[in-house]
Amino acid sequence: MKFSELDLDPKVLQAVEEAGYETPTPIQAQAIPEALEGRDVLGIAQTGTGKTASFTLPMITVLAQGRARARMPRSLILCPTRELAAQVAENFEIYGKHHKLSMALLIGGVSFKDQDKLIDRGVDVLIATPGRLLDHFERGKLMLTGVQIMVVDEADRMLDMGFIPDIERIFKLTPFTRQTLFFSATMPPEITRLTQEFLSNPVRVEVAKPATTAETVAQHVCKFKPTRKDVADTEKRAVLRALLRSEGDELRNAIIFCNRKRDVGIVYKSLEKHGFNAAALHGDLDQSVRMATLNGFRDGTVQILVASDVAARGLDIPNVSHVFNFDVPIHSDDYVHRIGRTGRAGRSGKAFMICLPHEQKHLDKIVELVGKDIPEISVPDGAVDEVRERPRSRSKDAPAERKSEPKQEVEAETSKSEPRRERAERGERGGRGRSRKGEGRGGRDRQDKGEPVVGLGDHVPAFLLRPAFPKKAARSKASEVSAETESEAPAESDKSSADEAA
Ligand code: AMP
Repeated sequence: MKFSELDLDPKVLQAVEEAGYETPTPIQAQAIPEALEGRDVLGIAQTGTGKTASFTLPMITVLAQGRARARMPRSLILCPTRELAAQVAENFEIYGKHHKLSMALLIGGVSFKDQDKLIDRGVDVLIATPGRLLDHFERGKLMLTGVQIMVVDEADRMLDMGFIPDIERIFKLTPFTRQTLFFSATMPPEITRLTQEFLSNPVRVEVAKPATTAETVAQHVCKFKPTRKDVADTEKRAVLRALLRSEGDELRNAIIFCNRKRDVGIVYKSLEKHGFNAAALHGDLDQSVRMATLNGFRDGTVQILVASDVAARGLDIPNVSHVFNFDVPIHSDDYVHRIGRTGRAGRSGKAFMICLPHEQKHLDKIVELVGKDIPEISVPDGAVDEVRERPRSRSKDAPAERKSEPKQEVEAETSKSEPRRERAERGERGGRGRSRKGEGRGGRDRQDKGEPVVGLGDHVPAFLLRPAFPKKAARSKASEVSAETESEAPAESDKSSADEAA
């Protein structure tokens, strides 16, 4: 089939041709004609299948006729994450470049004011994350009664993120006559219920079983038994480094997935400390930082991206040579999504997964889901020697949940590679955290050591020798002073920022 057989607007066809696409992908070939007919579509497809164009191309074609009214968007696309929303917006720009459709992106991290201005003028396409959309709605800045086409992208991820009540609410705010294009990689019961309630006689388009892993991805699992529980994470990071190094020049770029946000930060810092060109991507980072990181990864200035599932889901990053699972994903579906970042569009890719004994149960579920064994490789020779030889000490008061944390290494990572001043500039606090102007001059350390105060010289003026406050007041004044200087206590502040870095 050719794009020209799809009844798309000629200007859309031109943009598609300029994007270099020759033939529609299966989801496009099946969904576009139905969408152009005005039917509801239930698309079961994962990212990488060309699903974004399967809804953007017909939308542009339909929206090319008519005009937007102030505060009443004509179409709405809901995405689970800011990154995915931004990516869909990019797609609109590419495919809609010969049209004059107006678009607004409602995502966290972008000022309400700018977004309000766009909406006030009237938009043809509104792309939003559910929370931010409802925020705008509740501020009375937006009406959804003009929505003719509504898209829900990555619905199963919305479910994972707890957005289903928001989605239901948004559905109810739009007219029931709207057309709905609904996409999900998997169909858990909650999603099926949602489609039954809000889609009207949809055509079901399914392109690949969600559990299918691409044949172009060579998968490996590296089972590793740490020496002790308290050094497990340090050793695991050493194994990761050894695996990365063992790939040599073949490793053009890589995404490393961690199950927890905290580990994203730790692994990223550790890699950087060991000389890798790495960056971190997780949901708590500023939108501008996340976008800059992604752009850096796309243009090759960042080679290794350490990411959490939520941040990386649905990202269109072409040409990733390697995926590493630092942790075995707890949800087997995530494994399919993670390794789907490589081996795209017929190219070959490699996926590695480190599996500790306690993760075996998750590995078993993955093997069951993908329906084939994942070949096992041994731990690279000497992988953990470097960390096993190091002496380490643990502080007694480390928080319980960090018991298995390699404290020594994490502390070194944060305190050495990042001076306290830089952390303070980012707004992170040290110690019990009253950071003040002039911090760093004086402080408890010096007081404790009884060193003279710099600046007054040997001569102490007489008024300073007089008691300034009655006894009680003097005591409380003194405690205030010591509270001010507390943030200087080195052990405390480093420990706390190591925790924050996690
Ligand atoms: P998606 O599944 O929407 O994330 O798309 C995955 C990738 O496929 C993106 O890089 C698209 O630019 C690309 N793509 C979409 N449609 C086509 C097509 N018909 N031919 C070639 N590449 C495509």
